Amino acid sequence: MSENALTDKIPADLKTLTLDELTQYCTDVLGLQRFRADQIFQWIYQKQAATFGEMTNLPAGVRTMLAETAVLHRLTPVNEQRSKDGTIKVLFELHDNHRVEAVLIPEFFDDGVADRLTVCISSQVGCMFGCSFCATGMMGYFRNLSIGEIAGQAIHMDSIARETFGKRINNIVYMGMGEPMHNYKAVMHSAAATCHKFGLGLSPKRITISTVGLTKQIRQMADENQPYRLAISLHAATDEKRNKIMPINESLDLKSLEDSVRYYYQKTEKDLTYEYLLFDEFNDTKEDAAQLARIAVWAPSKVNIIMYNNVAGVTLQRAREHRLNSFLAELSKRNVLATVRRSRGDDIDAGCGQLAIREGAERGKSISGKNPILE
Ligand code: SF4
Repeated sequence: MSENALTDKIPADLKTLTLDELTQYCTDVLGLQRFRADQIFQWIYQKQAATFGEMTNLPAGVRTMLAETAVLHRLTPVNEQRSKDGTIKVLFELHDNHRVEAVLIPEFFDDGVADRLTVCISSQVGCMFGCSFCATGMMGYFRNLSIGEIAGQAIHMDSIARETFGKRINNIVYMGMGEPMHNYKAVMHSAAATCHKFGLGLSPKRITISTVGLTKQIRQMADENQPYRLAISLHAATDEKRNKIMPINESLDLKSLEDSVRYYYQKTEKDLTYEYLLFDEFNDTKEDAAQLARIAVWAPSKVNIIMYNNVAGVTLQRAREHRLNSFLAELSKRNVLATVRRSRGDDIDAGCGQLAIREGAERGKSISGKNPILE
């Protein structure tokens, strides 16, 4: 990044900068030594500092200079819901009063001790892709989240995990509000910040980035050999059905998705995951399972069958148990590796976007954002 690009940003929100950019900002713009950038990065990510005044290992003059030339946009938890099944959902307010949410999903051993702790985080305020089953899609698109706003959710949820379950989070999935690949740079750098020793020090293999099928970005992820796992939000296995529920499929159809998935595997040799929400009498027949099996062989993969959290105003409903069982039997007959993900947090607003939408409505805030795909 050129110095101009940085100085143009002043007062810069330091949470929009990568560590390299922050280092350049410190050395070239502020005239500090490089290690100051490491210290600031650690304060922002590991210690979640809200102000420069908290950065007590920086000289007072540096803190003043930072306060005069830069800002730290806040990420404030404003609501927390706890489900009977252990799921914890947090609503965060951003500096411009938009709200996004993150969910901590614990899985327990038989003796009730927490085993896997997965955090689902948001990458955008709203979303422009308008999937018909999705509460976030109903909001329309407002803006991308910054690196710090994304990583900050994971770090906050990790502190809740430690307080509540006495252990750190094991997994992060980018499956909350927004389409992660539509905010590619911030998403990849937020994952890097989270894996950094000054972040959570998490292994990149523990991070899964999902997409509805943005083929250019799937190829980019392969070309850059990004160390994170890839998940495709498939949800229907024919163009006809996918077009009905996911408008993106009309411009990027299953053939183009297949080409990008094959390219991804050829380049990275990494297997991937397909996410498949099972809707009653929509995509849950034996023929649907057969179509899904044809997709599952594009590259070594597994399928997560997700039991839908019904959303008010959406006609599609969670598939009934007997239909799930015959769907699974058909997949098994066709040697597809499939796991069922039961819906969690049924007693709280746990579906993606539900809490933000309800809170927005209660605050009298418009949820009619721009949606160029649907316009
Ligand atoms: S499912 Fe994902 S891509 Fe589709 S509208 Fe919801 S957030 Fe956007």
